[in-house]
Amino acid sequence: MNLSRRNIIKVSLSLFSLGLLFPGCGNNNQDEDPCGDLSKVSENDLKVRKKMAYVDEAPNKNKTCSNCNLFLPSSDASCGKCLLFKGPVKSNGTCAYWAPKM
Ligand code: SF4
Repeated sequence: MNLSRRNIIKVSLSLFSLGLLFPGCGNNNQDEDPCGDLSKVSENDLKVRKKMAYVDEAPNKNKTCSNCNLFLPSSDASCGKCLLFKGPVKSNGTCAYWAPKM
């Protein structure tokens, strides 16, 4: 296979268009909740999530994921990640390990 710059760009564009280069990037279904897809989260990680008492809607609006020190925001303001477990978390979610931002 000829690894010219042109071929590398062509292969990269093909993989990108198929969603293979950056899996998880992009949302093919705009109606779908970008934060609700737990299909790539293992059973074990789902158990960890549950043990930490994560919920999608914080009862106390002063203790949400979005104002937690362990929250990793994404380009979607309603969704992000947590440093403590795998999978998406909602900005309005919370868990038993909420920590104030430093
Ligand atoms: S530690 Fe809890 S409250 Fe903080 S970002 Fe993770 S899930 Fe949300």
